[in-house]
Amino acid sequence: MAPIIIIGSGMAGYTVAREFRKLNRQTPLTIISRDCGSFYAKPMLSNAFQQGKDMAGLVNFTAQQMAEQLDATVLSHSEVDTIEPNSRSITVAGQRLPYSALVLAVGADQRQLRLDGDGAADVMTVNDLADYGRFRQALHGIRRVAILGAGLIGCEFANDLANAQFEVSLVDPAAWPLSRLLPQQAGLAMANALAGLGVALHLGKTPQAVTRRDGGYTLRMADGDSLEVERVVAAVGLAPRLALARKAGLFVDRGIVTNAWLYTSAEHVYALGDCAEVDGLLLPYVMPIMQAARALAKTLNGEPTRVVYPAMPVVVKTPALAAVIVPPILSDGRWEPAESLQVEGIVTGMRAVYTNHQEEVCGFALLGECVQEKGVMLKTLEPWRP
Ligand SMILES: Cc1cc2nc3c(=O)[nH]c(=O)nc-3n(C[C@H](O)[C@H](O)[C@H](O)COP(=O)(O)OP(=O)(O)OC[C@H]3O[C@@H](n4cnc5c(N)ncnc54)[C@H](O)[C@@H]3O)c2cc1C
Repeated sequence: MAPIIIIGSGMAGYTVAREFRKLNRQTPLTIISRDCGSFYAKPMLSNAFQQGKDMAGLVNFTAQQMAEQLDATVLSHSEVDTIEPNSRSITVAGQRLPYSALVLAVGADQRQLRLDGDGAADVMTVNDLADYGRFRQALHGIRRVAILGAGLIGCEFANDLANAQFEVSLVDPAAWPLSRLLPQQAGLAMANALAGLGVALHLGKTPQAVTRRDGGYTLRMADGDSLEVERVVAAVGLAPRLALARKAGLFVDRGIVTNAWLYTSAEHVYALGDCAEVDGLLLPYVMPIMQAARALAKTLNGEPTRVVYPAMPVVVKTPALAAVIVPPILSDGRWEPAESLQVEGIVTGMRAVYTNHQEEVCGFALLGECVQEKGVMLKTLEPWRP
């Protein structure tokens, strides 16, 4: 019998394999990855520095250990070149491999900023273990780092590196950090917390060019301002990896398009994780992967199962100011003015809710001490996909 083939050894690929093995020990399983195939928690990449973790310290299990645990074949350092849905096969380094079912868990790339200057190609991104290894090495012996992008990952890196005694400049065209996730008041509270750690925030600034100079780089902004730093790191969002699916003729839009059962447009081909647009939703976070993996495992075991998405929080790993956010799935409403929690005149927490036209709460942001309200607040939200 041809195996079930999973392309990708990230959280999505390995979680669906694990969930499947809980249900089925017989069906052969092959996991193919172009990276080393180690299992690690990707969210740790943005808070591992201060903990002194190197690449090896982040690995939970090697590819070989995963193969043993899952009773699977794991092909690491193997890039899948093509998918041929008609003959139910893929090719890897010129070799044709047949599948009974195929799971695409190929993840997303960090978006590249268009920058001028001879240092533009040196701008780093951190999206997997190997990137993290390079990143750690590149920060050895230097102090001044610019981070481009004050979204979730940029803020987390800024907090982590500031705690590790780097001089961090955080640059973003928006007027406050986490601008896609937080209303202004809450975003400014995050800005204050990061500034309190020593992070220099350059908000309302669009990076335009990176040029090399002795021992580092000059980062020039569109308004003519500039910064002298030793390394530049970009964290400006993710772009689902679509090339393989597109080449195979699968429907792709913002991600590889699937229905609520994770079926792509090709028979016996499924997708989940950062690469997938599931029933109209692109959710590049861990919790949606867990939900999707459990449903897909059942489907692969012969019990077609729809993905259920409750409203799911995003936990921002910024110890300077804890934050839990449930972003609204539809941006057809508004953030209500944030409420502050004060103890003896000092703001210790903040709560903001997002309401739709019917005045129903459909998202929230909790900062500082208010994060304790997460459980209660979650109960007030309707599921995203019941
Ligand atoms: C720095 C950082 C911090 C984060 N923090 C959080 C957080 O706090 N909370 C949260 O919920 N989420 C967080 N996320 C997001 C979360 O980590 C991702 O949603 C999740 O790890 C994605 O898993 P994935 O398996 O879909 O993709 P990936 O982990 O990217 O795995 C994709 C796999 O596909 C393989 N692959 C790709 N193309 C091919 C090919 N052609 N052939 C063979 N193999 C291929 C790759 O080698 C890789 O093994 C963070 C992400 C980053 C980068």
